[in-house]
Amino acid sequence: MLPDAFSSAPVAQAQGRMQNFVATLLRQEGALVEAIEPDGLEVLAPPTVQRVLGIGELSRFGFGATLPPSAQRVGIEGDWLERFAALLGPQGRFARRVLSPAAKAPGDPERMLERELVLDNATFRLLGVTPAWTRYLLLDFRASAVSDDKRDFILHLGINLATGSLLPEAMVAAMALAFDDPLPDPSEEGPVPPEDADLPAIWDRPRLLELVARALPPRLDPMLGPFVTGLRRRFGRDQERLHGYHNDLHREAMRRALALPEGDARRRREEDRAEAIAREYRAKLDDLSRQYATRISVEWIQTLELTLPVHRFAVSLRRRKAERVLRLDWNPLIRRLEPPICEYSASIDRPRMVCDDALHVVVPAALGPCPACARAFCRACHAHRCPKCGTTDQLQRGIAGVTQSVW
Ligand SMILES: [Zn+2]
Ligand SMILES: [Zn+2]
Repeated sequence: MLPDAFSSAPVAQAQGRMQNFVATLLRQEGALVEAIEPDGLEVLAPPTVQRVLGIGELSRFGFGATLPPSAQRVGIEGDWLERFAALLGPQGRFARRVLSPAAKAPGDPERMLERELVLDNATFRLLGVTPAWTRYLLLDFRASAVSDDKRDFILHLGINLATGSLLPEAMVAAMALAFDDPLPDPSEEGPVPPEDADLPAIWDRPRLLELVARALPPRLDPMLGPFVTGLRRRFGRDQERLHGYHNDLHREAMRRALALPEGDARRRREEDRAEAIAREYRAKLDDLSRQYATRISVEWIQTLELTLPVHRFAVSLRRRKAERVLRLDWNPLIRRLEPPICEYSASIDRPRMVCDDALHVVVPAALGPCPACARAFCRACHAHRCPKCGTTDQLQRGIAGVTQSVW
């Protein structure tokens, strides 16, 4: 996204973060770093840093609109990010923090719950709110769409390992900011969860991958939308051009052929030419399809594990005679109750419905009718298979789909 042209605040903030990042990284790699005005750093770099970054022993970097004297500009343009990535290596792919923000219990939990939980076919009641601890995994992914054009997107997933909630993107961003705070002084003790804290275990890999595989495509599709629309438009235009050109040639050859008497050798030649034009058109059309075929790959970038005290809401769901207790956490960093995940699609869209048998909380489409026999069924209960006629029916997954994944 381009920075807001009418406000320099976000730009300055981004520069400040970049400068902090560079200063922290260089110090960690053994460089002597000093801030200089305006918005710059003076760096005395050890030989390894000099080699990897391609800089001299003494260098000056500038991050703002005005550079300090004899400073090089450092920003997200150019190849600086690649150079820093080379210096960083595999470090920083995984981070772990315990935070204990001072936050009072949420006021008026009933109202808060009513705002967050909207059920179309069931009632619910708050049973109680208790202090608890939980672990979050904040996962960052880079998705690349490659065809005649290439586009990169960054996706964030935030998972509460105790409740299984997936946080909305804005919540993940707000929580990730907590990692930008300076690390506590190693001599100081950071917050520690109490010994009897009932922390959820780290999920095993298959469980995590299963959720990620469900959660990424519906979040990726809207990001890819404009890219795919542009692609289809260019593809359509090129197809038309190709057709127009070959059609004219073909028609011309046929016109000449038909003007000649049957059995004439010249007529035969014109007919062969028309056929060759049609063949060439089909081959060019294949080339074009290959050129516009889109490959989408998703690559894991980093994981932040965050341990946090929360307030846990126990909610009783009722549908007909059945009852189920759902647990949702109120998150003190963002001061919000985390929405429940759709137990089929991993979406966090509202409203929700509750299924008859297991009281799964799902999006309405997950309780839709079978496309073959029209019997309505819960996709979370019966995977993708209609219990009556056995027809497989997955919810429509927008465009493309993830064709290759690298974790
Ligand atoms: Zn169900
Ligand atoms: Zn069916």
